[in-house]
Amino acid sequence: MKFNFTRALAYLALLFFSITSGLTLAQNYPTKPITLIVPFAAGGPTDIVARTLAATMSKTVGQTVLVDNKLGAGGTLAAAFVANAQPDGYTLLIHHNGMSTAPALYRKLSFNPLTDFEYIGQVVDVPMTLIARKDIPAKNLQELIAYIKQNSSKINLANAGLGAVSHLCGMLFQKAIGVELTTVPFSGTAPALNALLGGQVDILCDQTTQTTQHIKSGTVKMFGVTTKERIKALPEYPTLSEGGLKDFEVIVWHGVYAPKGTANATLEKIGNTLRTATKDPSFVAKMADLGAESVSDTKLTSEGLKSWLQTEINKWGPVIKSAGVYSD
Ligand code: ASP
Repeated sequence: MKFNFTRALAYLALLFFSITSGLTLAQNYPTKPITLIVPFAAGGPTDIVARTLAATMSKTVGQTVLVDNKLGAGGTLAAAFVANAQPDGYTLLIHHNGMSTAPALYRKLSFNPLTDFEYIGQVVDVPMTLIARKDIPAKNLQELIAYIKQNSSKINLANAGLGAVSHLCGMLFQKAIGVELTTVPFSGTAPALNALLGGQVDILCDQTTQTTQHIKSGTVKMFGVTTKERIKALPEYPTLSEGGLKDFEVIVWHGVYAPKGTANATLEKIGNTLRTATKDPSFVAKMADLGAESVSDTKLTSEGLKSWLQTEINKWGPVIKSAGVYSD
């Protein structure tokens, strides 16, 4: 077959322009608003971190970072949405431990947390608090556990669905006290907390980013934090470990992800913007007021997120399997 020099030249030119235009797009990124997908309802802990982060990132990235709440299935629908989004840097995901528990909880997960994303970095660590409706007849954790055991058939435990950290914390709490409760799933712990305030549910394990203000104002009853040590935002409250649930610990970490295949220049721009935002004094101050802790510089990197994700998958997989909790 005669070599067609003209056609070969045309292909090379096409290849050259597609590579250079891709590079140009990435180098000019961003040229329009960026959307940060939040897997839970507006007003909840993840949304609070996301909107504070988005507003701070908007100050330096050169475009507005918008927040869009995509609900359902304990955060897995949002993760699947971003895994299948255009890898152009304009659709990002913020998610928490749920990225590491989903593989064990969902037998038919429509994405792979370890292969379907690019890893931007972690954001903040947030403690959880075990709270109850304020008229529950218990003054401390031991009295709450006794009350639960005496009324287990009537007690409702709220969470944000299979894969939410409120589900994980609630599962660990039930296992620790040896009682199985009726659980009521919501699209996030914002509606779950509203149900608690309205007396429709009895107990909720939720993050300090949302519960701190309610605990301080007395609209809910507080039974402990899920950290090894007491926290600066709520120093007068004991840890669950102090209350008798030895070594009970759940800390909520947050990662920002992009779809697999996003250009390196774009990822670098997003990563640098994230790291600048998480060190912004107003961001740090607001997060600290809500009990959230800054993370190490290592955790702020792409590798710091991906290696932590792998560690957490390895940690929670066996715990979830031993609890026999999953969704087909
Ligand atoms: N973090 C979720 C939210 O913001 C709740 C959860 O994961 O339990 O609603």
